[in-house]
Amino acid sequence: MSLPRKDLFELPEGLIYLDGNSLGPLPKGAAARAMRTIEQEWGGELIRAWNTAGWMDMPKRIGDRIAGLIGAPHGSVATGDTLSIKVYQALAAALKMRPERRVILSDKGNFPSDLYMAQGLIDTIDKGYELRTPEPEAVADAITEEVAVVMLTQVDYRSGRMHDMQAITQKAHAVGAVMIWDLAHSAGAVPVDIAGCEAEFAVGCSYKYLNGGPGAPAFIYARPDLVESIQPALAGWLGHASPFAMELGYRPAMSTERLRVGTPPIVQLALLDAAMDAWEGVDMQALRAASLALSERFIAEVEARCPSLTLASPRDPGQRGSQVSFAFEQGYAAMQALIDRGVIGDFRAPDIMRFGFTPLYLDEGDVVAAAEIIEQVINQGLWQDPKYQVKSRVT
Ligand SMILES: *Cc1c(COP(=O)(O)O)cnc(C)c1O
Repeated sequence: MSLPRKDLFELPEGLIYLDGNSLGPLPKGAAARAMRTIEQEWGGELIRAWNTAGWMDMPKRIGDRIAGLIGAPHGSVATGDTLSIKVYQALAAALKMRPERRVILSDKGNFPSDLYMAQGLIDTIDKGYELRTPEPEAVADAITEEVAVVMLTQVDYRSGRMHDMQAITQKAHAVGAVMIWDLAHSAGAVPVDIAGCEAEFAVGCSYKYLNGGPGAPAFIYARPDLVESIQPALAGWLGHASPFAMELGYRPAMSTERLRVGTPPIVQLALLDAAMDAWEGVDMQALRAASLALSERFIAEVEARCPSLTLASPRDPGQRGSQVSFAFEQGYAAMQALIDRGVIGDFRAPDIMRFGFTPLYLDEGDVVAAAEIIEQVINQGLWQDPKYQVKSRVT
């Protein structure tokens, strides 16, 4: 099947959705799948459903479906919890692998939650660890022999700027550091070859480009040769080698299962399972080509129409993920005015208007129509209406 696959999604009439990088839309069939899980499996089978409906295997089975999109081998991806938790888990395990070193290297472009989780972990361990956050452009040069772990998000959530996974991982390994990639804005957005770059860990979420729904479980990848030696900091019973033996001591599973923690969110996993159907047979190289065609067209249209917007993403498409950002001082109000007119993007402080390009359900007609509405809002100053100044909790 070629792209786009609009028929596979519930997209409200008259709306152009350029925020699938933040919360993907509802896939058709997902609600029915969740209802079946609730009514037939939970309602009918009750606790038997852990076996009869395959609930206990869902985190692994769906992890395998995600693995296909990030170049990970079968059995190397676990799902569950939220991305912040998976960041903590990967980082704690990585630090244990380099006990003599004390530096965690990330960058200023990373998503704040990843940095907060690192700070929290440093405080908990209380052994003099240090988090360094240079500018993204300087991070490669900051990889020194003091560094225990390099923890980066491949695609910058604000600008879409992309790190070179292969080159940075090589540099980290050359000085003996462990590499963790956050693929939150990569999975389902750009081709990823996590096995090929040989990073030790990767994490990501499934409610952005993967369309798993609000609160969808996160994923974590560990390089297969390490799985049996990783020391899980979050030693929950479902990561135990034999959870129902109810032993008093923790003994980790000899597989990626050791990265599970507690009871999986079954209804959310059912939604994600249905969402993954939309990815069947998608060639990530073809998706990337479609994504770049959409974003190049968008940049050209917006720049030609709106001289007061400044491109805040790399102009070189090879350096960009699947989003385009423009800086505009009144970006928050302008985004509210756009949303009011059926073009949904989002705003990231201090002045970034962010637009995501998701070739599963967007085509060039959408991009041009969105640019026309952006032109009206910006050039006619429609954002000046006081109602667009009111800040909501979520921007
Ligand atoms: C979206 C995102 C998160 C969000 O984490 P949750 O725990 O799922 O809320 C964390 N890190 C990055 C890099 C993200 O893009």
